[in-house]
Amino acid sequence: MAIVPLERVSPVTASASDLLAPDCRGLNFFRIDASLRQLLPLYLDASTLARLEPYFDRLGLLAGGRLDELAAIADKHPPVLHARDRHGRDEDFIEYHPAYREMEAIAFGEFEFHAMSHRGVLGFDAPLPPVAKYAFQYLFVQAEFGLMCPISVTDTSIHLVAKYGSDELKSLLLPRMLSADPARQWKGTQFITEKAGGSDVGALETAARRERGQWRLYGEKWFCSHTDADVALLLARPEGAPAGTRGLALFALPRRLEDGRRNAYRIVRLKDKLGTRSMASGEIRLEGAVAYPVGDMSGGFKQMLDQVNLSRLSHGVRAAAMMRRCLNEALAAARGRAAFGRRVVEHPLMRRQLMKLVVPAEQALSMALFTADAMGRANAGSAEAERLLRLLTPLLKFRACRDNIAVATGAMEARGGNGYIEEWVTARLVRDAHIGVLWEGTSNIIALDAVGRAVGKSGAHGALAQRLSERLAQASGVPPAHRARLGSALDRAFAFAESVARDPQAESLARKAATALYNAVSAVLLAHEGVQDPYDARRLLLSRMVLEHRLAPHDPLGHAEMEWEGRAINLLLADAPVPLEQARAVVAS
Ligand SMILES: Cc1cc2nc3c(=O)[nH]c(=O)nc-3n(C[C@H](O)[C@H](O)[C@H](O)COP(=O)(O)OP(=O)(O)OC[C@H]3O[C@@H](n4cnc5c(N)ncnc54)[C@H](O)[C@@H]3O)c2cc1C
Repeated sequence: MAIVPLERVSPVTASASDLLAPDCRGLNFFRIDASLRQLLPLYLDASTLARLEPYFDRLGLLAGGRLDELAAIADKHPPVLHARDRHGRDEDFIEYHPAYREMEAIAFGEFEFHAMSHRGVLGFDAPLPPVAKYAFQYLFVQAEFGLMCPISVTDTSIHLVAKYGSDELKSLLLPRMLSADPARQWKGTQFITEKAGGSDVGALETAARRERGQWRLYGEKWFCSHTDADVALLLARPEGAPAGTRGLALFALPRRLEDGRRNAYRIVRLKDKLGTRSMASGEIRLEGAVAYPVGDMSGGFKQMLDQVNLSRLSHGVRAAAMMRRCLNEALAAARGRAAFGRRVVEHPLMRRQLMKLVVPAEQALSMALFTADAMGRANAGSAEAERLLRLLTPLLKFRACRDNIAVATGAMEARGGNGYIEEWVTARLVRDAHIGVLWEGTSNIIALDAVGRAVGKSGAHGALAQRLSERLAQASGVPPAHRARLGSALDRAFAFAESVARDPQAESLARKAATALYNAVSAVLLAHEGVQDPYDARRLLLSRMVLEHRLAPHDPLGHAEMEWEGRAINLLLADAPVPLEQARAVVAS
């Protein structure tokens, strides 16, 4: 649970008007995150976790402290594009505030986020398991969201080059991309979207021509985050290649050529964005830029999807992280502010609203770690885990990114008018939350991928249904009636998704089906997690909340607060562990 220690919250006194409700500044975001700390041992072996804990602790401290300060500054001092250098040469460059550079040093230098999946970091002599990498991302993003894009695309670009690049390309790029030395490091990015198409990738128009023994690119890319990365992976259509996605090839586009000259593309302008303002997103014009083919020239789109799917998982984790920050902020505000003679958190209507932040934030964390674990097992060769990953990734990206918007708005509202003011982090969280439903696929596109392709074409849901049934069967501590309801919710969600996937006329229901799957899967995960710890079974209570509030059909006129629900809300907002027997009694009532 998101526990903001009460001692940090100022008491309501006669002089409360001098002191606004506190926020989470100065807290250690790892130490206060009882949920993360409860779940990590389910996925990481004890010795790995023991070695990682000091680093989680350090990042938690930074996220609540220095990183948070830097993020606020960088957000207010966004990058600036200069078209020429001081000699008047067309050497475009982007100027960043020192706060952004300091965050880069923490991310790429101290923690080496970009290399965590590719080589030993933090004293380990092998890559970290995905669960650990995403736990680091989860902590970092609670302070800074914009920079996570360059971190993640550098990581995913390395993956693509390592998997598909020729030996020559690998030896050119990987030592630089894997370096943590800012003077030597090449950071990566990914440019797909053009004016002609973002969702409709087959419409891309950028052309690749073979000239003087090299591939050269012509065209424009319309949305380029981390615009000035040292190497961009992009899709272009070689002359004579067929239309549609089949004709797209994957290329690596270096910013500088081997002799140090600027490659022939220009950053035309930077976007004036709603959120992620610390990070540069721009437009580029390719004027015969040299590019290196990556992998099979006729399979560019398929190869690029590897990177897209990795990014989608990271976006789901980022949404989970932002929701945690939102929840912590909302709790701090509601506990520290008085209205009508009592703390805001004591008002029954407010308690109900807070639950609307608690539930999606906890669902997203469960889903994120379960998905990351599937990735680790898929990387180790499990075909079953690969199928889980195929479906879980779009489910998480779709639902968590959408939930993040409502949760951020809820956190803003919990702080009252101050929540809207840029001196408080909630305003930035509201702005940043919205991008999750756009980049790496809009909600519609992701829901269609989950239901139409992952369920319909790949049949990935069979493996997930099997896995979750096993989880339920193992969770003997879950009260039998609740277990039966979870099993039935799962069956119905999978049957609904199958029927939508089968029927071309039912495409308009893809989001509904993806939502049902996400909620049913997360309810089972929460129940399973909830009975693992006899001293703290709050997640079992949450599984019933998901079942009754996010899966059951809503009849606003018919709903009256049930007795169990009032007890569950009191327990979940009480800031204290709930013994398993007590949670079982509430869930069974
Ligand atoms: C800040 C920011 C940074 C970005 N960074 C990058 C980047 O670094 N690299 C990159 O390649 N791209 C980037 N993007 C682009 C982003 O991925 C696209 O904007 C996104 O994929 C949507 O494409 P589009 O803008 O062309 O919208 P469109 O594809 O035109 O979509 C418009 C609407 O139509 C809907 N729609 C489209 N097709 C269907 C369908 N079949 N069924 C139902 N609805 C549909 C969409 O859901 C959406 O609501 C960035 C975008 C932003 C805002």
